Amino acid sequence: MSLLDQATRIARDFEYPAEQVQRGVKEYIRQSDEGLGKEGTTLSQIPTFVTAVPNGTEKGLYLAVDLGGTNFRVCSVLLHGDTTFSLTQSKILIPRELMASGTSKDLFLFLARQIESFLRIHHNEHFEAHQLRRREDSNAEDLFDLGFTFSFPVRQCGINRGTLIRWTKGFNIPDAVGHDVCALLQNAIDELNLPVRVAALVNDTVGTLMARSYTSPGETGTFLGAIFGTGTNGAYVEKTKNITKLQHMKDAHFDNSTGEMIINAEWGSFDNHMSVLPTTVFDDELDADSNNPGVQMFEKRVSGMFLGEILRRALLSLHNSDLGLFKANKDSKVTISEKSMLFRQWGLDTSLLSSVEADSSKDLVDIKTALRDHLEIENPSLEECQAIKILVHAIGKRAARLSAVPLAAIITSTNKLATDDIIDVGVDGSLVEFYPNFEGHMRDALREVPEVGVAGDKKIRIGISKDGSGVGAALIALVASKDA
Ligand code: ADP
Repeated sequence: MSLLDQATRIARDFEYPAEQVQRGVKEYIRQSDEGLGKEGTTLSQIPTFVTAVPNGTEKGLYLAVDLGGTNFRVCSVLLHGDTTFSLTQSKILIPRELMASGTSKDLFLFLARQIESFLRIHHNEHFEAHQLRRREDSNAEDLFDLGFTFSFPVRQCGINRGTLIRWTKGFNIPDAVGHDVCALLQNAIDELNLPVRVAALVNDTVGTLMARSYTSPGETGTFLGAIFGTGTNGAYVEKTKNITKLQHMKDAHFDNSTGEMIINAEWGSFDNHMSVLPTTVFDDELDADSNNPGVQMFEKRVSGMFLGEILRRALLSLHNSDLGLFKANKDSKVTISEKSMLFRQWGLDTSLLSSVEADSSKDLVDIKTALRDHLEIENPSLEECQAIKILVHAIGKRAARLSAVPLAAIITSTNKLATDDIIDVGVDGSLVEFYPNFEGHMRDALREVPEVGVAGDKKIRIGISKDGSGVGAALIALVASKDA
């Protein structure tokens, strides 16, 4: 069997045809209904206590921080009240040792220190004035309201209260689990004496939805926010009466005048028990070797953190087979460094998939460059480049088609297609932004769901919601400070 035949055979295992999409949608609706009714289900369907979406007229200066993946972001947002805003931002790589060892105190003090340097650099006047007032009156209240975007599963019982259910995306600090993450951050902030109040706990997906709603308010506001970055998740507007588990939450308190609340689906954990999700030997091995086997099974097939690793495992199987992908022989002068990331778990970044997918030239020069830059592979043959392209296309397309499942399920189960209104969806994340034709593959699958079809797909407006976590968190902090 030739290399291309074998790559094509592997690619076939990644196919995700229409009937599987349809089964996926039915099962998603079942699991999401279950999640609205009780705690502890696969789809967490977390009530966020955010009961309205903005309309673009909101005003003020707010702080927002975002802990969600590879980076910690700190920003201040000035809302102008006319759908526009100014944003000042800094982005800090989170040291790996703080993510997966150490204590929650180490992590949160690190975060508070980043907030302090941000304030000193960008808002020093306010910072100094506050310190002065504090010296004169230790109870002086002149605080920045801060929205804390925390993109891990939490059990929220109020707008700035929520306990961590579990870590995902490579984080693992056991002593934080079960604790209120707003209190952990506020304690660290107070320890450094900063003029900051943690006003709202925000999931980045909810932030994406809010930011989109502020910047492009339609007649009905934004309905759904979705992230396809390091992880994947979605949030949407649900009728409060359908969130029946709220009745059992004795500590829940919120204003129900709109009759709606944003639900954070936590869809990364859709179908953890694998009743409908497609799988391959590479998915199974990736899961078994991960630090959280058996959970986030949907995310492990869809998001940026995992697609590179799926590809790495597929490439490695071809490298180790008789076909000897990237091994020199009499016809090929290919070389691969022993230190290549191909041999290292999590070594392959998903941006490589985008570069490979984007190259449609005859001699695939960009793929050759990407292989050299990412994997220290020199002189790959054309056939080898074609083989990797086949695999990448299969893995990326499956991820995009899978992404249509929650979208179709949420839009149909909430009956959004019953009217002629546009359904506005805000999306964020490097995968949806940069992976070529991600939205196109997703829409193909959406149209294959009979309840959506071509007509339904036309009503769905999808737009990138940039800087969503910053602006969205600021908007939620604003709502929370008005309520306080
Ligand atoms: P985060 O989700 O951490 O806030 P991003 O939305 O930038 O940040 O997502 C980062 C993830 O996206 C990483 O897993 C990375 O591998 C992946 N990624 C980065 N660049 C690209 C790209 N050009 N194409 C596809 N995936 C990418």
